Amino acid sequence: MIFQDWHTHNSLCSHAIGSIEDYVKKSIEKNLNLIGVSDHFPYECLKGIEEIPYEEYAMKLENLEPYVSTVEYLREKYQDIIEIKLAFELDYIEQQVNAHKPYLKKYFKQIDYILGSVHILLGKGKMFAFDDNRFLNDYRLYDSMNEIYIDYYNTIQNMIISTEFSFDIISHFDLPKKYNKRPEDEGLIAEHVDRTLDLIKTKDLTVEINTSGWRKEVKEQYPSKDIIKKMYELDIPIVLGSDAHHPNEVGFNFNEAIKLVKKIGYTQLAYFEKRKRKFIDL
Ligand SMILES: [Zn+2]
Ligand SMILES: [Zn+2]
Repeated sequence: MIFQDWHTHNSLCSHAIGSIEDYVKKSIEKNLNLIGVSDHFPYECLKGIEEIPYEEYAMKLENLEPYVSTVEYLREKYQDIIEIKLAFELDYIEQQVNAHKPYLKKYFKQIDYILGSVHILLGKGKMFAFDDNRFLNDYRLYDSMNEIYIDYYNTIQNMIISTEFSFDIISHFDLPKKYNKRPEDEGLIAEHVDRTLDLIKTKDLTVEINTSGWRKEVKEQYPSKDIIKKMYELDIPIVLGSDAHHPNEVGFNFNEAIKLVKKIGYTQLAYFEKRKRKFIDL
């Protein structure tokens, strides 16, 4: 069985526990074939971040260099035991889609892939970190959960069609369900999901099956089974990610996730090297 974890964090982002090497060692212990080190790209390059506890959201700019060199060092050190990929989880923030570029540019040749994520919505004129429980009060700024879901999928669509924001994999596709807050009108939101999936297909992007939802109130992977079925119909490629914020979480629930995607029909997983996609058999 192939176990590749394309989404992991470490203590550099200030809200995860353990060094990068701790995650690598745990991955080896759990018989993973590959670990993608994909920590949160720095927020300091963004404007308006004083509205959010950004220092707890991502690594600092000064840590970019040590981060990259550590991953490259570990890649060599463990090359006979496990494959290690270098990545970033990059946040898409409306109106600031270029802010990270001057800092990211330097590492373009080394990066294996980029996770594109939406954790922040701007629909009500200020930064709303909807997946941080400290922002649960701000849900009241919206008239309904429908409105939040629509704002979210519109933002994801803008990320996908942006000619400036370059990424390979969409992380935790239906993240607004994290606290099990469901849209009032599932049918309406399904239309927004369908439109988003069509764009993903057009742009030939990959979607992550993220198992961290099983550790959250929603108690299921991202995206939902229904959405994965639609992805399969559209022949949209997938990878697995645990979104580990503790070494023990690498490869979390991968047996269940693989069972699920196989049952839906998937026979292959995507694989990235220096931002080129290949496929491997499940
Ligand atoms: Zn995180
Ligand atoms: Zn994320």
